[in-house]
Amino acid sequence: MNNSQTQTFDFIIVGAGSAGCVLANRLSESGKYSVCVLEAGPADKTPFIKIPAAFGYFMFSKKYNWDYDAQIVDDIRQGKALNVPRGKTLGGSSSTNAMLYIRGQQEDYDEWQQLGNNGWSYQDLLPYFKKSENNSRGESEFHGANGPLHVSDREIHYPLSKTFITASAQAGFNITDDFNSAVQEGAGYFQCTINEGQRCSSAKAYLLPALQRNNVTVIVEALTTKIVIEDLKAVAVVYSKKGKTSTIRANKEVILSSGAINSPQLLMLSGIGEKSQLEQHGIECIHSLAGVGQNLQEHVDACVFVNSKKHDGISTSVGGLFRMIPDLFKYLTKREGKLSNSISEAGAFLKSENSVARPDIQLHMVPLLYDDNGRDLKLMAKDGYSCHVCILRPKSTGTVRLSSADPFAAPEINFNFFSHPEDKKILVNGIKQVRKILASTAFDDYRGEEVHPGISAQSDEEIFAKAKERLGTVFHPVGTCKMGSDDMAVVDTQLKVHGIDNLRVVDASIMPRLVSGNTNAPTIAIAEKAADMILAFYRSNA
Ligand SMILES: Cc1cc2nc3c(=O)[nH]c(=O)nc-3n(C[C@H](O)[C@H](O)[C@H](O)COP(=O)(O)OP(=O)(O)OC[C@H]3O[C@@H](n4cnc5c(N)ncnc54)[C@H](O)[C@@H]3O)c2cc1C
Repeated sequence: MNNSQTQTFDFIIVGAGSAGCVLANRLSESGKYSVCVLEAGPADKTPFIKIPAAFGYFMFSKKYNWDYDAQIVDDIRQGKALNVPRGKTLGGSSSTNAMLYIRGQQEDYDEWQQLGNNGWSYQDLLPYFKKSENNSRGESEFHGANGPLHVSDREIHYPLSKTFITASAQAGFNITDDFNSAVQEGAGYFQCTINEGQRCSSAKAYLLPALQRNNVTVIVEALTTKIVIEDLKAVAVVYSKKGKTSTIRANKEVILSSGAINSPQLLMLSGIGEKSQLEQHGIECIHSLAGVGQNLQEHVDACVFVNSKKHDGISTSVGGLFRMIPDLFKYLTKREGKLSNSISEAGAFLKSENSVARPDIQLHMVPLLYDDNGRDLKLMAKDGYSCHVCILRPKSTGTVRLSSADPFAAPEINFNFFSHPEDKKILVNGIKQVRKILASTAFDDYRGEEVHPGISAQSDEEIFAKAKERLGTVFHPVGTCKMGSDDMAVVDTQLKVHGIDNLRVVDASIMPRLVSGNTNAPTIAIAEKAADMILAFYRSNA
């Protein structure tokens, strides 16, 4: 401590999410540095975090979920706001996500490198994916077996998942047993960040072990409201806990790991961002950085819903819930059964049309009628199945902007979906690919009426109009503090904020381009690499 009031730590990490927990562990490992983690949400105490199938619970939670709404667009979801869930607890979104373990495609990272980000190619990141991973299949060219993040094959519980794989083969698509090896393309079962029937969040994997060390402090329910910058150097952060404001100082660095929505918000609240936007809210611009909050990318998602003639999927009807009772007992006694897996057991990475070079769509098969993040309970009470399709590398980009200078106010999220015409084409072709799979004979015993988009939607325009009515996302916002050296870049390849000393951003927001798959494993690998870079820096500048 440098005086009786202000505590000082070597590193202050803002946000205990997928990335923040990795940093807390790796930076404290040697015992040489003190680390403080500030987390806005509460501790991860609820049992619902542990139970994989309880994923849906968090969509209704205001305690563990930031529960943002995107800016309303007239023809999307019929003018209703698109919901943007983000985890708000130890583990961040890794404590509330669907647990699918996917890395994306090798070309994604090679593209980051081609954009000028040396050291961020696939070959550069592969060691960090492996370092983080404890894969139940053991060590191999592509997988690690000694890391803290448990990744496992899951028992497949829903016949609909198996039917989806058979149908994909019937429709002429490749079948794969590993989306994370040399070739991603094909349909298959997902591996999940689940260990012995329980979610393996970043908090469980990385933070819990770090908390055994006496150089790690975690403060929960502490909303960081500002980074204190003196002479263009980050020296402290201000946070609010239970109505009380406190300041803690950083000897070495402040590291923002607040996620793709909150990291840019916090930079702007601290006077780093586009000058005119800051001034509009009465915030003094300490350092003008036009890219903060720009370049928002997200996996925009559409779906095909079909009524089922069978009753072996999930339904929230009384009968459906009754059918779950044996599985509840199985889970409580042995941590097995339907509650021990993600609700999406199977999926695919496909080309939206033959002419594209690599998969540009991802399919998530779910054994229920799942819309509006599970909040359409009436729809879910029916027996049915849905196949969701998202665009893997959308060209449309959006923004995160301040709605006010109040750090407690939600920022404005504008996805700007379909501002690039190519995205529309990929989504429509993606829906056609889904229909092809669902029309295969394997589904004959299941297939009832197509509820959505509905068979009346046949032309591209009709399919697109219907898709927008139930448009969603796969909860993968990235890119709002992008890494690079151009005018819109926020951090350099060391993830240091351009123009400000002792300040880094390490989370999903630094991705210059969205990767072709779910973003938890990539964010963890980014943080593993960042920790290595930070430790190397202080080793050579000791
Ligand atoms: C519902 C859902 C389902 C998903 N499903 C999958 C999936 O199946 N597979 C997959 O790979 N990915 C999935 N994802 C995406 C993945 O979980 C995220 O990309 C990843 O967790 C992002 O990590 P992060 O560190 O950038 O942010 P987060 O993990 O979101 O962490 C940010 C942390 O910072 C905290 N914070 C924010 N602002 C402040 C502040 N001002 N002060 C203090 N703390 C703050 C937050 O509360 C949070 O704990 C899903 C995400 C969601 C929300």
